[in-house]
Amino acid sequence: MDDCIFCKILNGEIPAKFIHSDGDTAAFYDVNPQAPTHILIIPKEHIASSAEVDSQNSDVWNKILGRAVQIAHELNLDKDGYRMVINTGEQGGQTVPHLHLHLLAGRNLGWPPG
Ligand code: AMP
Repeated sequence: MDDCIFCKILNGEIPAKFIHSDGDTAAFYDVNPQAPTHILIIPKEHIASSAEVDSQNSDVWNKILGRAVQIAHELNLDKDGYRMVINTGEQGGQTVPHLHLHLLAGRNLGWPPG
């Protein structure tokens, strides 16, 4: 998608600090971290939000969720814990219309979220 920030990160037009990249997914540090560790895991395919996941592309859940859990494990986040968040749509707080999973860790995260 031409005007998508995360697609531009994927094709190198916008810089990002990548922690992972494979054929299907990429992960990079959030530019405005909300916790000591704040990583975004995204599918390389442009999917605007979780509302656009259907039977044709539902394997995206395994890909990004599995990747997030693996990264959490590799960063030794398992012991103290972490949170995974997917914001969807306006009231869900989504600001970038390319499906992404937030991986947050390194502090006590409040509940309920704001
Ligand atoms: P959301 O509000 O769930 O759509 O999350 C979008 C996230 O993308 C926010 O946490 C932003 O800080 C983050 N973000 C926006 N632009 C960039 C960028 N260029 N590099 C890394 N993270 C970004």
